[in-house]
Amino acid sequence: MPHVITQSCCNDGSCVFACPVNCIHPSPDEPGFATTEMLYIDPVACVDCGACVSACPVGAIAPDNRLEGKQLPFVEINASFYPERPADVKLPPTSKLAPVIPAAQVRARPRPLTVAIVGSGPAAMYAADELLTQPGVRVNVFEKLPTPYGLVRAGVAPDHQNTKKVTALFDRVSRHRHFRFYLNVEVGQHLSHAELLAHHHAVLYAVGAPDDRRLDIDGMGLPGTGTATELVAWINGHPDFTDLPVDLSHERVVIVGNGNVALDVARVLTTDPEELARTDISDRALEVLRHSEVREVVVAARRGPAHSAFTLPELIGLTETSEVVLDPEDHKLVEADLAAVPDRLTGQKLEILRELGDASVPRTRPRIRLTYRLTPARVLGEQRATGVEFSVTGTEDTHRIDAGLVLTSIGYRGKQIRDLPFDESRSVIPNDGGRVIDPASGQPVTGAYVAGWIKRGPTGFIGTNKSCSVQTVQSLVADYNAGALTDPVTKPDGLDRLVHARQPDVVDSAGWAAIDAAEIARGSDDGRPRNKFTEVADMLAAAATAPPAPKRRLLARLLG
Ligand code: NAP
Repeated sequence: MPHVITQSCCNDGSCVFACPVNCIHPSPDEPGFATTEMLYIDPVACVDCGACVSACPVGAIAPDNRLEGKQLPFVEINASFYPERPADVKLPPTSKLAPVIPAAQVRARPRPLTVAIVGSGPAAMYAADELLTQPGVRVNVFEKLPTPYGLVRAGVAPDHQNTKKVTALFDRVSRHRHFRFYLNVEVGQHLSHAELLAHHHAVLYAVGAPDDRRLDIDGMGLPGTGTATELVAWINGHPDFTDLPVDLSHERVVIVGNGNVALDVARVLTTDPEELARTDISDRALEVLRHSEVREVVVAARRGPAHSAFTLPELIGLTETSEVVLDPEDHKLVEADLAAVPDRLTGQKLEILRELGDASVPRTRPRIRLTYRLTPARVLGEQRATGVEFSVTGTEDTHRIDAGLVLTSIGYRGKQIRDLPFDESRSVIPNDGGRVIDPASGQPVTGAYVAGWIKRGPTGFIGTNKSCSVQTVQSLVADYNAGALTDPVTKPDGLDRLVHARQPDVVDSAGWAAIDAAEIARGSDDGRPRNKFTEVADMLAAAATAPPAPKRRLLARLLG
């Protein structure tokens, strides 16, 4: 009864270190780890102890006899990562256990290492977790929204609740006695980089890639055009996108690009709203979806099927929940790519595409059509979008698809941070192992560090940020140990006073706990995991119900 890793694998590698027989690969020390689409359990070597199940932060692992029907393909997918061999032949282990990256040891100094982390998504929380393994270290997390956890809250699709379970790990990190939240505080508006640095040894930016890559073709910008990432934020109740005008009164939506974000949006737009009503989707979005006239979402890729940007686990998940079809010409492209003897992973994707239904069959419910070799040329329409004209990639031919809504889903883009260098071409902050580098001098910018998408670009999964953040923390701690970081100028109370003077509505951990509890309570009557507040004012009103800080301090003293 070996265990199996399934769709919501976050790749953070926790299971690898929990496994007593090193049967989960690629492990973080192996070359494929940074690029793998998921982790795989060797069914022959697995001893069925279940240690990986408890270690997985997103509930992605189960014994093979307890899988739901839609998870069954993952039995073969896990096994196919390993060479075929008789059931009792184990692979020679490269080492007994996957080598654990040793935590960066902080040397004791009179002023304990104090780090400001800007952003509160996965890269920020993994960095905080790593720093707080060391005695005495203090971490203050600054976030511009009153709610934490970045794209886990505002980017992961609401029907992927398992993936959102990683917030339980982040909640645990944030309960550490040396961790503080400064939510609803925007660095660059309420505080400058220099002010943060004056109150900390180091400032670690884990701000992600907040903008979209824009498609520069005629007609983008017309009413009826937008980006998939804006739509994801709207679906997830991000307060900056609550009022996004989303017009679903047309039969067809076209999404340009076929990464996992495109699949998320296509799936949500074609799912029965009553199913979504059991998730934490924004109420506003749910209402619009309940009146949607959309019957088909076309996901258009500029290259062929073998270069599909979506991952295999997400494709499998999509085909289990949605009706997905291909045009006959695209079926031919799939066959041609299969005949070219693709690598294992691409071959598995192509086999699934091969099995998809034909778009000529009348649809029974809102469906998704995947199309290939279409390069967007212009958005059609005068007053508003009525479709897209594509060139057939590599030819002079054109192809038009009518649509009432045209979304681009061509990736995220990092944004410049005031007072720090920025690499425009890669949309990242130039860095070496997380140390921010001044391109003019080639030297590190003292006290400035980066982790996550602003460090390496918008790639990978939630857990990919763990090893990324650990690397940055190693650099930061080495600099602190070497005496290269300046002690903070004031005591912690000085920082508190400064933040409150600049932003009286700062939300702390207790405020977030009050928002969290209120959202969960609002959702419980309808059997939902939570019903999110989508307006900052409502979040602040909920935060204000938290017991005032002096009372909490007294309580903490009484409780010892
Ligand atoms: P992505 O995976 O990088 O996909 C971008 C897509 O846009 C590709 O199909 C790309 O085509 C296309 N594209 C780029 N420029 C284009 C242009 N000028 N014209 C037409 N098409 C263009 O980006 P994403 O979907 O935003 O995802 C970002 C990251 O988040 C990925 O690592 C993804 O796996 C991750 N993510 C994961 C999940 C999940 O695990 N459930 C969910 C969401 C996001 P080419 O390949 O031809 O360049």
